[in-house]
Amino acid sequence: MPDPTTRDRPVILGNWKMHKTPAEAEALAGAVVAGTAGLAVDVGLAPAYPALLSVGAAVRGSRVRLVGQDAHFEPQGAFTGAVSARMLAACGCSLVLVGHSERRLHFGDTDAVVRRKLDAVLAAGMAPVLCVGETLVQREAGAADSVVREQLEAGLAALDAEDRERVLVAYEPVWAIGTGRTATAETAEAMHRVLRRAAAVIAGEATAARLSILYGGSVKGDNVAEILAGANVDGVLVGGASLESGSFLDICRNAA
Ligand code: PEP
Repeated sequence: MPDPTTRDRPVILGNWKMHKTPAEAEALAGAVVAGTAGLAVDVGLAPAYPALLSVGAAVRGSRVRLVGQDAHFEPQGAFTGAVSARMLAACGCSLVLVGHSERRLHFGDTDAVVRRKLDAVLAAGMAPVLCVGETLVQREAGAADSVVREQLEAGLAALDAEDRERVLVAYEPVWAIGTGRTATAETAEAMHRVLRRAAAVIAGEATAARLSILYGGSVKGDNVAEILAGANVDGVLVGGASLESGSFLDICRNAA
C-alpha cells in the first residue's frame, strides 16, 4: 500500500462532496483505477458515506485509496446523522479529511472540534488530512499567514511526535474553493512555505521536512503541473474537477 505521507510522489485526492450515488461513484472509481494504473501518483477518492462500500470494492487491489470526507470525534453514541472514524476504517478508509472549510462554514467545526476529530482519526489507525485556509476577507486584511499558522498549531501542537508523522496538511484558500479562482503557483508555494516553517516550530525540522502539504482550490488539468512545481507543494486536493473521470484523469496524468 503506498504511503502518501512520504512526499515521494504527488498525492491527488478527489473530494466528491455531496455528489454521486453508490452506483455512479462505483463507475467513476472504476474509471479512475483503470486510468491511473501505472501513473507515478498516489490517488485517493473521497465519496459520500453511502458510496464508501461500492467505491471500496472498485478500488480494492489497486493503489487508489479510499478517503473519508469527515468523521465525528466520538467513537459511537447518540449523534444522529454522524459517522465515526472507526466506521470509516471498517469501510476501508485509510485517509480522512478533517477541518475542510465547508465543514467549518456550514457545520460549525471549530479548531477545537477539528482537534478532537484528528485524535479520533489517528486513534482509528488512519491518516488525517488537516485542511487549513484563509477567507478572502482575512487575506485582504493581511492575515492569511497568521490564520493558517493558527489552524495548523491548533491541529498539531498537542499531538505526540508519532501521530504528527501521520498527518497530511491541505492548504485550501477558501476564496479559491469551487470559485474557479486558483491561487497563483507563487501564492500557493509561499503559503506552503509558511506552513512548513510553522510545522518546524511545532514539530521540529525533521518532521516538517517529511510533512506532505497539498494545495486545494479550483485545481484543473491545465494548472496542476504549475502548482506542483512549487518545492513545498506535495499534491492536490480536488473538488469540482474530480467529479468526471476525464477532468480528474487529466490532473493525474499532468501531475505524474
Ligand atoms: C475542495 O473542496 O477541497 C476543493 C478544492 O474544491 P474545488 O476543486 O472545486 O475548488
